[in-house]
Amino acid sequence: MAYDFDLYVIGAGSGGVRAARFAAGFGATVAVAESRYLGGTCVNVGCVPKKLLVYGAHFAEDFEQASGFGWSLDEAQFDWATLIANKDREINRLNGIYRNLLVNSGVTLHEGHAKIVDPHTVEINGERHTAKNILIATGGWPQIPEIPGHEHAISSNQAFFLKELPKRVLVVGGGYIAVEFAGIFHGLGAQTTLLYRGELFLRGFDGSVRKHLQEELTKRGMDLQFNADIERIDKQADGSLKVTLKDGRQLEADCVFYATGRRPMLDNLGLENTAVKLDQKGFVEVDDLYQTAEPSILALGDVIGRVQLTPVALAEGMAVARRLFKPEQYRPVDYKMIPTAVFSLPNIGTVGLTEEEAREAGHEVQIFESRFRPMKLTLTECQERTLMKLVVDAQTDKVLGCHMVGPEAGEIVQGLAIALKAGATKRHFDETIGVHPTAAEEFVTLRTPVGA
Ligand code: FAD
Ligand code: NDP
Repeated sequence: MAYDFDLYVIGAGSGGVRAARFAAGFGATVAVAESRYLGGTCVNVGCVPKKLLVYGAHFAEDFEQASGFGWSLDEAQFDWATLIANKDREINRLNGIYRNLLVNSGVTLHEGHAKIVDPHTVEINGERHTAKNILIATGGWPQIPEIPGHEHAISSNQAFFLKELPKRVLVVGGGYIAVEFAGIFHGLGAQTTLLYRGELFLRGFDGSVRKHLQEELTKRGMDLQFNADIERIDKQADGSLKVTLKDGRQLEADCVFYATGRRPMLDNLGLENTAVKLDQKGFVEVDDLYQTAEPSILALGDVIGRVQLTPVALAEGMAVARRLFKPEQYRPVDYKMIPTAVFSLPNIGTVGLTEEEAREAGHEVQIFESRFRPMKLTLTECQERTLMKLVVDAQTDKVLGCHMVGPEAGEIVQGLAIALKAGATKRHFDETIGVHPTAAEEFVTLRTPVGA
């Protein structure tokens, strides 16, 4: 049967755009549907605007530290509206770049909400299009628990467009988004409380990293409240919010921001017209080749709920395009050793196994750890310390994991990820000459295991 397209991609986010562009480059006829914003979450309400706000927040400490180097400034003033307007302008520019990328690669762009009406047909803006394969790349959406008063809370989607910087912010959650946004609000001058339901935030990260960040954020004056959860939120006459915790305590805030995970975006997608199955958490179930239970339909990125990171969605997009249209170049995505950063202030950078994971997997581990005051701070009052940690297999000498909390941790860990991917041993680290004077050189000068 002749189809209108070889591939119909639903969602022009990180994964969808990558798959569409590469498939078209391989000679396939491709369409992509986008209902909201070109570039998806990452470009519009994720990585990119978040990083711009983190840069904005970082200036607070730069101004503070500048005096140690002889600079004097009148009292620094911050204007939220300017930051948001400049951020919006940059995102508009990126939207245009995404449009050009798609159009110039020969992809047909349909702007509107796409619904699957049968395993080979998509309906959008009242028109039907057939395709040999359909790719679901619809991403995720913030999830706020339905407690009384949840309608007064915002998610990351709204945080990027607030008209003004709230004076008092309560951030709920202990994952990436909560920690990053707490840093943004705090850095920009809001009185910030981070509320997390467990013992210690950033579950799944290395224990030393979690503890170190807790200490650094506390030093900076952020209010961290663990083992705390909200029971209800009430709006008061003056517009402020009264928050009642499960333990009976009450807090007041001007903004309650929930960052409690993301659900797959499947709204009105028409999956009921297909054999596509969902997994226990409600994400689209796929096999190793991103194939759903419906033979003509594939899925990738946040909607499959594996690793919700842009570079992973990009890699999956590339794998799908190759598998369908350039099978001789197909290589499966390797989910091991995925480096990641949390853009908290200070940053976390991490790759490989945590100490806890390494022990649980049965490795006999050696731990190398260093905490130090970065050179840049020696002329300032700032007492912030950097943490660097290596998790090494004592039997094979292989470096199993690298973890850092400190300035530019994300930048530093990217290079280390290549070394770990190549199977670097501790000896390789020891034999590598440092770059002096940097913080990063500490990773190649860690000589004595902890406790030795
Ligand atoms: P998305 O980028 O979400 O794209 C899905 C697209 O599909 C959207 O544009 C949506 O409008 C569209 N769509 C949905 N349904 C339909 C439909 N029926 N019809 C037409 N279009 C539809 N990752 C990192 O690696 N680093 C970071 O620093 C980082 N920061 C983040 C910060 C925040 C606040 C958030 C929320 C996420 C962040 N992420 C980060 C995660 C990253 O944004 C996602 O992993 C990535 O965007 C997933 O890409 P995707 O292609 O799966 O989906
Ligand atoms: P995460 O899954 O990272 O964290 C969710 C947090 O919310 C956890 O601390 C969780 O607690 C808590 N939580 C979940 N449900 C509830 C509830 N009902 N009540 C109270 N607390 C709850 O999600 P995020 O929303 O922070 O981010 C989504 C994903 O986006 C991330 O996992 C990451 O993959 C990606 N991302 C990546 C970034 C980066 O690369 N820098 C930045 C931002 C996002 P518990 O631990 O107890 O389960």
